Amino acid sequence: MKRLEGELKNKLSAGSAWIRGQIVPISEAVIPVNDWGLTHSDITYDVAPVRNGHFFRLDDYLNRFEDSMKAMRLDPKLSKQDVQNAITGMVAASGLRDSYVAMACSRGVPGVPGSRDPRDCINHFYAWCVPYIEVIKQDVLEAGASLLISETVARVPDASINPRIKNYQWGDFTSGLFEAKDKGFESVILADQNGLITEGPGFNVFAIKGKTVITSSHGVLAGITRMTVLEIAAEMGLGIEVRDLPIKEFLLADEVFISSSGGGIMPIARVNKTDFSNGRIGPLTKEMMNAYWSWFNNPKYTTAIHYD
Ligand code: PLP
Repeated sequence: MKRLEGELKNKLSAGSAWIRGQIVPISEAVIPVNDWGLTHSDITYDVAPVRNGHFFRLDDYLNRFEDSMKAMRLDPKLSKQDVQNAITGMVAASGLRDSYVAMACSRGVPGVPGSRDPRDCINHFYAWCVPYIEVIKQDVLEAGASLLISETVARVPDASINPRIKNYQWGDFTSGLFEAKDKGFESVILADQNGLITEGPGFNVFAIKGKTVITSSHGVLAGITRMTVLEIAAEMGLGIEVRDLPIKEFLLADEVFISSSGGGIMPIARVNKTDFSNGRIGPLTKEMMNAYWSWFNNPKYTTAIHYD
């Protein structure tokens, strides 16, 4: 009995899922092959970071998830508190103290067999957590991460797919990633059809010029890390500009960095053929990174998880 319990604990710590009210090892969490989340990419999701046994800005992530579901007319018949209980119980069961915690709501399967009407679908909430993920790994960042601005694929227009609803429609990002990887870059930045910087697969993009932090106003998810960056910049007394950011101007920046719940603030040493901060971490980026991680120790922003 003890041995079985130990085995289950080990499995859960590799990754756990909350699905149909049960907490199970992630490998055992399955959704039907005809779920519209899979067949139509008709799904929204969110990802909240857990560090040192605490959620960071949990309410902001839950609110964004709720807003995304509302905007897509998804209703899993769970309250915000239910979602919080599900993900908190799941992380506690996993024992993970540093975790990437995903929650998703898919359109589900039509209650009327063969129906093509989205209103007939039974919406399905599920969640999963794995050990903390960084969109660019620490050793790559330390060696100097490089990004390519794609020449072959533009970000899907806001008018087609609203980037503020966090989504799995990654066709543009995935094409861009293949292009970047084939050319030896770590990841990709997509511009829109007018040559304005948008974002990358899993991250927002920033330029620092002088004492001003600039980030794109459209074609982007309203990242929670992006919001934190802007708050930190304000605290540091830096200028903030949220606006169109043309590629040409971006490449003239003094420092470039990206932001994501998977890794926080991550310095970028090179974009295309342009080096930034002599391939080192720029001084203002460094200051912001330190501030970002210090906020993870501030009870104002954290929610403790109670492990067994
Ligand atoms: N942009 C996209 C497309 C993303 O998928 C993500 C996060 O996964 C981000 C930006 C960064 O958002 P956040 O800081 O909330 O993680």
